[in-house]
Amino acid sequence: MLGGLVDIEKLLSISSRYFIPIIEDSTEALGSSYKGKYAGTFGSLGIFSFNGNKIISTGGGGMIVTDSEIFGEKAKHITTTAKTDPLNYFHDEIGYNYRLVNVLAAIGVAQMENFSKILDKKKSIDKIYRKELKDLNKVFFQKHLESSDPNCWLFTFRTPNMRKLLEYLNFNGIQSRPLWTPMNRLPMFSRLKYISKEDDISGQVFSDCISIPSSSNLSEIQQEQVIKSIKKFYNK
Ligand SMILES: *Cc1c(COP(=O)(O)O)cnc(C)c1O
Repeated sequence: MLGGLVDIEKLLSISSRYFIPIIEDSTEALGSSYKGKYAGTFGSLGIFSFNGNKIISTGGGGMIVTDSEIFGEKAKHITTTAKTDPLNYFHDEIGYNYRLVNVLAAIGVAQMENFSKILDKKKSIDKIYRKELKDLNKVFFQKHLESSDPNCWLFTFRTPNMRKLLEYLNFNGIQSRPLWTPMNRLPMFSRLKYISKEDDISGQVFSDCISIPSSSNLSEIQQEQVIKSIKKFYNK
């Protein structure tokens, strides 16, 4: 999440012990790596969204990566309408028109050419925020796995004052947002069983986290303004 990596070694060992395949939703971690291996390449399949708000975008659509020929062929088949006969348009199962069309793919390829620059900028934004905000009372940063190299997609921190800070920043013209509502709190899933080992961790993270401007277009002056505003909120 947010460009950080999950404890993948632990998950892989559970996965192999119980034969549970892993599908990595690696959208936010495009370019992040753990021990030199990239997010999206640990599980059976990795998926990436290239929606407008992502680290690179094709306007819409996404990508599935896999090193399994069987999964690859199956994914190709059901994302391109499961057609088996081009003359008679015969579909042998329920398929979807989930193509990343070639025009959009070309936009994605062009973005990949700038990808290392985007990553450098994201990492520099992250470094500056961590340095400038670390002494504020009750501000906690996302922790990263040792031996990991996160892409620093969206700078987010925890603070018990999240709601007030969110209002303050947005009121002052600095677009900030809370995290995504946990799925167990969405109406269509609310009747399903929610299992949590300790207290409601995702609920706590949700109520404390705030994401602040971290676009690769953010200028140094703009970032200074964000920092100044946050410090002002904390009377520093
Ligand atoms: C944005 C995002 C999605 C949704 O992608 P769409 O292309 O809008 O379907 C899914 N998972 C993660 C982790 C995301 O960040």
